[in-house]
Amino acid sequence: MNDEARQCLQLQNSVTDIAKAVEILSSGGLVAVPSETVYGLGADATNSSAVQKIFTAKKRPAGHPLIIHVTNIESARTFSSDFNEVAETLGSAFWPGPLTLLVKRSSKVIDEITGGRETVALRVPAHETFQKVLAAFSQIASGAIAAPSANLYGSVSPTTAEHVLSDMGHLIDAIIDGGQCAVGIESTIVDCTVNPPTILRQGAITLDLVNAALTPTGVIATEEINGDSRAPGMKLSHYAPRAGVKLFETKDSLFAYANQCDVNKVPYVSITGHEDPKLYARELYSLLRDADALQPHEILVLLPESTDIGKAIRDRLFKAAAPH
Ligand code: AMP
Ligand code: MG
Repeated sequence: MNDEARQCLQLQNSVTDIAKAVEILSSGGLVAVPSETVYGLGADATNSSAVQKIFTAKKRPAGHPLIIHVTNIESARTFSSDFNEVAETLGSAFWPGPLTLLVKRSSKVIDEITGGRETVALRVPAHETFQKVLAAFSQIASGAIAAPSANLYGSVSPTTAEHVLSDMGHLIDAIIDGGQCAVGIESTIVDCTVNPPTILRQGAITLDLVNAALTPTGVIATEEINGDSRAPGMKLSHYAPRAGVKLFETKDSLFAYANQCDVNKVPYVSITGHEDPKLYARELYSLLRDADALQPHEILVLLPESTDIGKAIRDRLFKAAAPH
């Protein structure tokens, strides 16, 4: 069957559908799964050829490491040769949830996952459907699902099943529709292998939350200085719509620019988001996708304040606006 003719199986959150999804994963197929962050493009993390299919479908450069999703902290420990005190503390505090821990890999982790690195990124997702898939998958197979965002490399992440279908419906074996993702942006990544532990990617779990959890250990985490990322794939243009993205700190400056566009007859769409940063995060990628679909010359976006998840939104928007 050629790619065009290939039909993506559309599944729901029923016992039979979850069983079908797990069967496909076990036989090395690709299944898009909902998570609380964004939709993931899932494959058996212990199967090299299945993992290779992720790179092909996404057109993701080889060597960009993937996050492994597991059922619980016990399972996470088996994928690390040094699941240290920081990892134990953060995993216990935030899993299941939108936090990814970078730890030393164990021999169970294949090279295709880490791009040959000695570290592995692990997460226990909270979405009910993803949890069911992981639980069922661990009954019959590895219980480890590699799942980057289910979109073409470099483009805007998907937060609904429709987003996934429109980007990759013809490239995947199945998708489970789990509704709109509650968080809406990718997980926070904490590197637990360094001292101090370091946030490599901003997300819903902020530095303050991480440090509150670490208090009993006496360890204080830090965040990476902007632009100096040790997590591959972080520095480049990313999360980018086709139209140019222009960012504004205030509504006034956005409206002034929009007026100029009106005068010069430049087609634009403006996004002013939500006061509540959590709502803004949930809607962000839908807003960018909807704006892009109108094929404007530019998308004008109001930056949220750098509080709570606002910091992560700003990070994604700066990458969306980077030259590409
Ligand atoms: P995602 O594309 O959301 O699945 O996130 C994957 C990102 O996690 C990668 O682009 C890296 O930035 C980071 N990451 C995953 N595994 C590793 C690793 N072993 N070492 C460093 N960064 C990693
Ligand atoms: Mg991605």
